[in-house]
Amino acid sequence: MSNDLKDKVAIVTGAARGIGRIIARHLLEVGMSVVLADMNEQLLEKTNEELCEIGPTLQVQCDVTKEQDIELMVAATIGRFERIDALINNAGIGNPHCPDIAEMTAEFWNKIISTNLTGPMLCSKHATPALRHSQGSIVHIASVRAIQSESNNEAYSASKGGLISLTHAMANTLGKTGVRVNCISPGWILTEESTRRKDGRQWVPTEAHHASHPVGRVGVALDIANMVEYLISEKASFITGQNFVVDGGAVKKIFI
Ligand code: NAP
Repeated sequence: MSNDLKDKVAIVTGAARGIGRIIARHLLEVGMSVVLADMNEQLLEKTNEELCEIGPTLQVQCDVTKEQDIELMVAATIGRFERIDALINNAGIGNPHCPDIAEMTAEFWNKIISTNLTGPMLCSKHATPALRHSQGSIVHIASVRAIQSESNNEAYSASKGGLISLTHAMANTLGKTGVRVNCISPGWILTEESTRRKDGRQWVPTEAHHASHPVGRVGVALDIANMVEYLISEKASFITGQNFVVDGGAVKKIFI
């Protein structure tokens, strides 16, 4: 089977842990070189030690709310690998509990929007020249909360909804130059880190948690990584501007 991703270069933001770490590991396993970008320096170091055993990595401390960090991260990528074929905008602040809308502060709102929406836009801006050169692609990681909510979800939902809109806008702008832009909206995804309890043991979902998904299980990070691999590959060359919900069918289940 041909593998058009072999020896290509991906940047994964938020790669120190969680879904980003598994996306990075998976892309290394299919033969890519991967830039691990994250603001958590200590964890990044640990993750890089683990992942560099699989394939070529570059660890770059980068806060996606800081444009100068992003410029340096892109320059470091070009310096080391001379190209960028895929940008995976995964870094995000996960579903924080918002204050009541009557108490919302601009400071709280702006922190979520600047990380989850402005960050991906700035990373895309700085990676675009190299992506145009390689005819590469961008994948934003949004959330099902872009299209479904519960109370006190405003900032996160709006940031992820914005990412879906950014996806189709950028796909139109960049399509003419051969760059594709897509978005994945994960549902509930278990990660090693999110299920680790304070006593060090793993939290295990109940049968009811699994049964609330039409496929009969809660998601794992590899479910997202597999979709990333597909979207950045040649197999997806006719797909751009789209949002893909990867949630085991949960948003399609009616509660009565
Ligand atoms: P996670 O475990 O919290 O990992 C996110 C990583 O991003 C952390 O290493 C974090 O660093 C880093 N990060 C946060 N802000 C950053 C910034 N400004 N610049 C650079 N790095 C930053 O999250 P996850 O559960 O893997 O989620 C990954 C993405 O998927 C997020 O965008 C999230 O919204 C989305 N998502 C997750 C789920 C889920 O069920 N897990 C569902 C839907 C969508 P720190 O450790 O310092 O915070």
